[in-house]
Amino acid sequence: MGIKIQSSIIFLGTGQGSFVVGKQIRSSAGFILQSGENQFHIDPGPSALAKAAEYGVNIRANTAIFVSHSHINHSNDINAVIDAMTYSGFDKKGVLIANSTVVNGSEELRPVLSGYYRDFLERFIVMQPNQRVALNEIEILTLKTLHSEQNTLGFKFFTPEFVLTYSSDTSYSPELVKQYKNSNILILNVPYLKRGKYNLCVEDAIKIIKEVNPRLAIIQHFGVEMTKADPLYQIREIQKATKVQTVAAKDGMVINPLSYSVDRGQRTLYSFPKNQVRGNKEEEMKDRKHDGGPGESLLDSDKVLMDLIEEGKTKQN
Ligand SMILES: [Zn+2]
Repeated sequence: MGIKIQSSIIFLGTGQGSFVVGKQIRSSAGFILQSGENQFHIDPGPSALAKAAEYGVNIRANTAIFVSHSHINHSNDINAVIDAMTYSGFDKKGVLIANSTVVNGSEELRPVLSGYYRDFLERFIVMQPNQRVALNEIEILTLKTLHSEQNTLGFKFFTPEFVLTYSSDTSYSPELVKQYKNSNILILNVPYLKRGKYNLCVEDAIKIIKEVNPRLAIIQHFGVEMTKADPLYQIREIQKATKVQTVAAKDGMVINPLSYSVDRGQRTLYSFPKNQVRGNKEEEMKDRKHDGGPGESLLDSDKVLMDLIEEGKTKQN
């Protein structure tokens, strides 16, 4: 307790759907937001404990768990995470923030949270869209969604240094996009390549990112089509269309959100010296510049991506 943690976003799982997650091509263990003394675990799906251990996240340090909805790839491991973070209730602590289905169930779905593990928590809060709650110095606004699980929530985190929006699972609507505005970092769940029901596709992501214009857009929750089509290629297309720094999340990727914070940095990283871009990538990017595409933005984004991946690798060791 009382240890100042450096701000980080750590992706434990970035996959969606039974093909990708079932084969663990990507996991769906959720992501971690560390800011100040807070460690939030968002959407701990299957293998949350295994992936946290693999990527060097101490589950005991969780101060809150956020569960956007009761679908298995977002909620499956909440009881296991509560058990681990509280030493089986020996150290009663932590807050669970979840939608109503996770806690109360619905006509079709039983509550995912078991009463037994719920009692290990300091408190749990059931939230509806468009409500606010504060945990220490971080304020959280719940967001509306349009998803097959009707109570699904998105989350907007207002930390002292940055604003992070997580869409969760939702389909597109211009009304919803308004909620995402004024975010430094925007995490979108985009399982689909082409328009599908209840979730975002690449074209939706482009519309949203253009409108919200964050400092960094992170695409994750890749379904089978996206995985096969190569997320990196899709992300370049999104970036070309939006001119916003966009990265494809990978399991184990670590982002330093302060690089995109309120009063630091620029909207893009155009000022990065070219000589920081190394190796084959440099050649590849030069070639692309000659194609007359927006070479500048490709180059900068790839630089960021390379750094992020490298940063992620160091963290894992
Ligand atoms: Zn879902």
